[in-house]
Amino acid sequence: MKEIHHWIDGKEVKGTSGRFSDVYNPATGEVQARVALASRDELDAAIASAEKAQVEWAATNPQRRARVMMKFGQLINENMDMLAELVSSEHGKTLPDGRGDVQRGLEVIELCMGAPAMLKGEFTDNAGPGIDLYSMRQPLGVVAGITPFNFPAMIPLWKMGPALSAGNAMILKPSERCPSTSIALAKLAQEAGLPDGVLQVVNGDKEAVDGILDHPTIQAVGFVGSTPIAQYIYGRAATNGKRAQCFGGAKNHMLIMPDADLDKAADALVGAGFGAAGERCMAISVAVPVGEKTADALIERLVPRIEKLKVGPYTAGDDVDFGPVITKAAQERINRLIASGVDAGAELVVDGRDLKIQGYEDGFFCGPSLFDRVTPDMEIYKEEIFGPVLSTVRAQNYDEALKLVMDNEYGNGTAIYTADGDTARDFASRVNVGMVGVNFPIPVPLSYYTFGGWKKSGFGDLNQYGPDAFRFYTKTKTVTERWFSGIKDEGGGLYFKAM
Ligand code: NAD
Repeated sequence: MKEIHHWIDGKEVKGTSGRFSDVYNPATGEVQARVALASRDELDAAIASAEKAQVEWAATNPQRRARVMMKFGQLINENMDMLAELVSSEHGKTLPDGRGDVQRGLEVIELCMGAPAMLKGEFTDNAGPGIDLYSMRQPLGVVAGITPFNFPAMIPLWKMGPALSAGNAMILKPSERCPSTSIALAKLAQEAGLPDGVLQVVNGDKEAVDGILDHPTIQAVGFVGSTPIAQYIYGRAATNGKRAQCFGGAKNHMLIMPDADLDKAADALVGAGFGAAGERCMAISVAVPVGEKTADALIERLVPRIEKLKVGPYTAGDDVDFGPVITKAAQERINRLIASGVDAGAELVVDGRDLKIQGYEDGFFCGPSLFDRVTPDMEIYKEEIFGPVLSTVRAQNYDEALKLVMDNEYGNGTAIYTADGDTARDFASRVNVGMVGVNFPIPVPLSYYTFGGWKKSGFGDLNQYGPDAFRFYTKTKTVTERWFSGIKDEGGGLYFKAM
């Protein structure tokens, strides 16, 4: 059985805790490897060594650190297929999706090639008589990244790029379900010139996470995962005096106005609802057609598109639309939630529960499911399903649709399809959600903006990547400086001559 261990001080280091977790091939249902779960002692040793390595890394000038990012970006590009294959083999997403996962992470590394510009301080000349005032951004020291299973390349890169280019060392604790990509990325970072110890990949579960949260050396925690864990990590990190930015789950709505291009809206919903088996924090899981006519026409367009979707293993070729979900438990939970929707009276228009794929009968596959006439009191509306299930909630007018989004406890992403600029503008301005799409279903901002949800989708006050990330991973120091006049004016020439 293949074993996956840790990446400490620039090499693979065997776990010594004796605890392991299974890593599945979600397409076959087989255990393909086991990953070591770090003990507190192993974590402590990795942190101690990161603390030492960080001192010299922080003293390396920002341009040189940026050059490591340039080379790292080049190596990620050159190894795109290898990385995508690793992502897909443990996560189950299609290879084009796996490449997308790497690509969206790479874009943040590209941003970090310009980190020196983001790390500049401010300066006020003559803030008072003979007084200058300036600020500088300094790294925090050792920081941690704790990441989810659903983007095994992208989210670790979102964490490590800004943290490392700002001069910090990082303890990365990837998801134990998809651990291999982080190790592969750490190897490439080393090849790019990152000094050993600056990036430590510690595999583990709650024990390692709690160790990170309680360790006095760790200065900041960047987390992405489900809402209950995000809230837990935010609270415990803050109690221990650490900075924390913790991004959680989502329930993203798309409004479809009566004037929208319904074919384009249906295409967008199918991609955004079912792509990556719905295992995206920016997936659209709720369609909100406005008006009964819009709803009927939308459902009529969705059904044939959904029935055409091809579900299969990533190895079956690029025409597969999406793969399996991550675990048997996830598959069973999705099926249970679908049953609860039926019991609650929602109309199951397309039922994906009985999908069986020849040769992959034990794989964790869920076919695409479409619900109509879902209401906000139903469990399928309230829960983040994180599977290929699209719910339709019919709204009678724009205000009702907007209120639905506003009242939802999550606020990661949302979208509106309309031909009317005024409606779109009103929606973008008023909605209490962090990322908004106008005739654009998955509005993940580019790397020079920032990514972050509102309400229960994000805890903390700075977003991921973009300028916010450099603020999160640095502390501002402000210096008030005065030089007394005298020497140069009063015989200073003689004084300097005497020297
Ligand atoms: P998860 O919360 O189960 O796990 C995330 C990380 O937390 C993992 O590294 C895991 O080891 C650790 N963890 C799990 N349980 C823990 C516990 N009890 N104590 C301490 N640490 C624990 O999330 P997941 O299932 O890996 O990922 C899916 C979730 O992530 C979804 O809810 C999705 O919406 C969310 N997500 C959010 C964003 C975002 O930016 N908002 C992006 C991607 C995924």
